[in-house]
Amino acid sequence: MASVALRNVVKRFGKTEVVQNLDLNLNDGEITVLVGPSGCGKTTTLRMIAGLEAVTDGTITIGDIDVTTREPKDRDVAMVFQNYALYPHLSVLENITFPLLARGGQKPQAQRQAKEVAEILGITGLLGRKPGALSGGQQQRVAIGRAIVRNPRVFLFDEPLSNLDAKLRVDMRTEILRLQRQFGTTALYVTHDQEEAMTLSDTMVVMREGKIVQQGKPSELYSRPVDTFVAGFIGSPQMNLLHGTVVDGLFTSEAGFTTPLKNAPTGSLTLGIRPEDVVVGAEGSHQQAKIEIVELLGPRAILSLELPSGRMTAVVDAVDMLGLTEGQVVPVSVRKENLHLFSAESGQRIPTE
Ligand code: ATP
Repeated sequence: MASVALRNVVKRFGKTEVVQNLDLNLNDGEITVLVGPSGCGKTTTLRMIAGLEAVTDGTITIGDIDVTTREPKDRDVAMVFQNYALYPHLSVLENITFPLLARGGQKPQAQRQAKEVAEILGITGLLGRKPGALSGGQQQRVAIGRAIVRNPRVFLFDEPLSNLDAKLRVDMRTEILRLQRQFGTTALYVTHDQEEAMTLSDTMVVMREGKIVQQGKPSELYSRPVDTFVAGFIGSPQMNLLHGTVVDGLFTSEAGFTTPLKNAPTGSLTLGIRPEDVVVGAEGSHQQAKIEIVELLGPRAILSLELPSGRMTAVVDAVDMLGLTEGQVVPVSVRKENLHLFSAESGQRIPTE
């Protein structure tokens, strides 16, 4: 186990700076999840930590060792890739023992360790098979087994679940969390899936165009996004973002939706409303919305609402949906204590307390 620190790390491909002055700490024993849209530099950052990509500038330390120019094999990190990268001609047992034998380990000891790991991962019955005879989920377990067998100081996961179907992704997500908690190994996990990031991370880092936009506990990023980019990126369904103006403490969106706002500056701003903070069937509200579409998600339902002042998304408890149908017109309002205000010009959060 070890903490990892990136200081002022820059990566240029030719003239293009794809990672810019990155300062990032991976805390000892935690899972840090790097999340952001495609092309924002997540994989490049992970590959620089692994030593598979040279840094253009800056330093990377693991524990108290500067590994910036060290070979990958001398960094004591293990990677799990999206495409598993198993050796097709080797059995599962041989795949898992491979990193131990490649480092000069003895076969009986390596096999003993591999069998222990296989037991933990529930793949003991597959040890004699070749990767071609395994399902995607089983292959991913073998890839994880190969990574954990040598008890590295740092795990690096590069979108390891992208090739799996939805149910298996959720199962494997839980399994990765369980393993990480069991081994307590420092881990960096890269994904473009914000839900995966929310559920897996101790610390969540949102990147955009080669820079960190915000980092912290997932609950902090959810409840206090620093700008409209993070606000829109985290949370599903997305936060409603309404552009409008505040006059005398009353916000009016461009399309005409109104709500009183406490402590809001007068003038233009963007109002953020999480779908769960839209109150449907609110008593005393003068604003009406037509329920356009209902999507039932078990205990909760997503409502697409059509207001004279534009569209809005709401999330409600499914029991509250009893008696509500598509096409019905209902009063709506918003929970004022949970609203988010952003500058109309910069998109930055406006503090209200
Ligand atoms: P994704 O979620 O799609 O994997 P990402 O956030 O992991 O995206 P990176 O793979 O790190 O993004 O790529 C960041 C940028 O660097 C992209 O614009 C990509 O095209 C560019 N890039 C990556 N590798 C190279 C390379 N070897 N040569 C030139 N440009 C590269």
